[in-house]
Amino acid sequence: MDWKGVEKDLSEALGKPFRVATAKPVGGGCINDAFLLEGASTRLFLKRNREELLPMFEAEAAGLEALRDSHAVRVPAPVAIGTTAGYSWLALELIEFGPPSPAASARLGERLAALHRCTAPAFGWTRDNYIGTTEQVNSWTADWVEFLARYRLGPQLTLASKCGGDTRLVAAGERLIENLPAFFGGYKPAPSLLHGDLWGGNWATDERGEPVIFDPAVYYGDREADLAMTELFGGFDDRFYHSYRSHWDIDPGYTTRKVLYNLYHILNHSNLFGGGYAGQARGMIDRLNAEAG
Ligand code: ADP
Repeated sequence: MDWKGVEKDLSEALGKPFRVATAKPVGGGCINDAFLLEGASTRLFLKRNREELLPMFEAEAAGLEALRDSHAVRVPAPVAIGTTAGYSWLALELIEFGPPSPAASARLGERLAALHRCTAPAFGWTRDNYIGTTEQVNSWTADWVEFLARYRLGPQLTLASKCGGDTRLVAAGERLIENLPAFFGGYKPAPSLLHGDLWGGNWATDERGEPVIFDPAVYYGDREADLAMTELFGGFDDRFYHSYRSHWDIDPGYTTRKVLYNLYHILNHSNLFGGGYAGQARGMIDRLNAEAG
């Protein structure tokens, strides 16, 4: 990559000249190429993708800012965003990672509960964003079940049918959407500020032993949706859950609703990556429809 244009924008953002001495590729992400950029006195983290994906980085930067404004948990600061030579990119404060520790895990539970205490008058957010590369609509909505149907599960089912997906999955999914109120009898979530994509690859321990979260898909939603995702692919231990619950207990109905919330991500994986995810989604939908009676 020709770093000249990036250097110009970064120098402006930092208020001092920045020349890329080395650019080391960083692995671990699902969507973008990532680099550790070293200048004479500054190190930065930079994510890069195709030029037309600039809105995805704009949404990510806005999400990182919203999480930072909560002061609940460490989040890398966006430094600059731009397009150069056919690429779009987002430069962030570089986080120096430390070894994972039980204390960081417990602290993450505490800090996530604090993040979830940040509330809004409705569900949604100030802008739409992306889950992976799929657009995620965040229009403000007073009713959580309506939000879930209209802006989360509904659009994923529409994508599944457009992708020529399994018609039985789509029909069962539509039945599930009609059944949604059955999962919310007596449970009225408040809008909580969510990370929105909190799988194990999107948190780490920094050099001081503090947890840091990154790569969000922010909105105000039911806090159970964030917790559900922590259970989807691993990476969170008992200390995390114990600490979270000791700061804010969880309703018993979470055990069923977490399947509902994770269905959104499995449908998204199915629409993005195909493979066995459609079968997994169908199993989840059938189980939920059976529970709804
Ligand atoms: P993607 O959007 O492609 O999923 P991520 O934002 O998850 O990319 O970043 C990929 C990897 O880079 C992460 O798993 C993490 O190890 C590392 N990483 C992410 N943000 C930073 C940062 N600000 N500083 C240092 N490393 C980071």
